[in-house]
Amino acid sequence: MFCYDKGIKLFGADFYLDAERVVPFSFVSHGHTDHLRNHKRVLATPPTARFHKLRKHKSEVLAVDFNRPVEVEGYQVELLPAGHILGSAQILVEKNGTSLLYTGDFKLRHGSTCEPIEIRHADILIMESTYGHPDYQFASPEQLEEALDRFIRNCLRWGEVPVVLAYALGKAQEAVRIINGFGHRVLVHPNVAKFAAVYEAFGYDIGPYEVWQEGMPADGVLVVPPHATRKPIFLNLGPYRTVLLSGWANGNGRYRFGADEAIPFSDHADFRELLEFVKQVRPRRIYTTHGFDEFPAYLRAAGFDARPLRSSGQLSLF
Ligand SMILES: [Zn+2]
Repeated sequence: MFCYDKGIKLFGADFYLDAERVVPFSFVSHGHTDHLRNHKRVLATPPTARFHKLRKHKSEVLAVDFNRPVEVEGYQVELLPAGHILGSAQILVEKNGTSLLYTGDFKLRHGSTCEPIEIRHADILIMESTYGHPDYQFASPEQLEEALDRFIRNCLRWGEVPVVLAYALGKAQEAVRIINGFGHRVLVHPNVAKFAAVYEAFGYDIGPYEVWQEGMPADGVLVVPPHATRKPIFLNLGPYRTVLLSGWANGNGRYRFGADEAIPFSDHADFRELLEFVKQVRPRRIYTTHGFDEFPAYLRAAGFDARPLRSSGQLSLF
């Protein structure tokens, strides 16, 4: 059904799934930079197409809505919501009665700023397993809200500016919506605002926010990408305290970004969600990408035929 040649390629077709190098034609699962390349043509959902353009990629885009099967080089393909960020998609591929589901990044927890995941059966499953280890268990949306609320109230009590460190696309928009729910003024990094405009264009209301720029008083809650605190603008901020929203908060993520605190919030599935997802897909065979080498062993212990998808450097057929 597919082969691996520095990327997942449908067998007998010139069509890749999240190709890691520039190719003539690829499905792009979502708008995070590690998935974007200047392919000649890409197939993606309309929001992903917008993020692709905002990130200055110049590919020709075939925008396909969720649940609208189309034919691509002899295969029937359909995009399903992945629940990761706005517009994130899985792709279900079918030919001659055999189906293949490629997940891209996904999660099962429902966020309020993206489409809820849709899970379908497939014979072959290629899944990301970034957090495929039992140590990784993430905050529920309710726990995230509670932890953020507590962090902000404590900062304000001690006269510190609350600074929320969240990836500019996805987690930042979720954070802005939650903080607006607490009734605080929200100030955001320009990149957060740039992507937030796409959320609004697709009907997701995250509430009011202002772009925070040099010289402006920080009289609200700041939402900025994790690297932003290294910028000189923070030197004149006065006392502030940072909290990192990250799946790696269970590990050393907080130290990596020099954050004062961390909340284990991620837009990926945690260990339990990965297992639950596989149970619902009921595939005959599973290939895992990203994450821990041990994860396929956990799947095999649960009765599934699973192995990591690795390239031997040669073209591999599956
Ligand atoms: Zn992603």
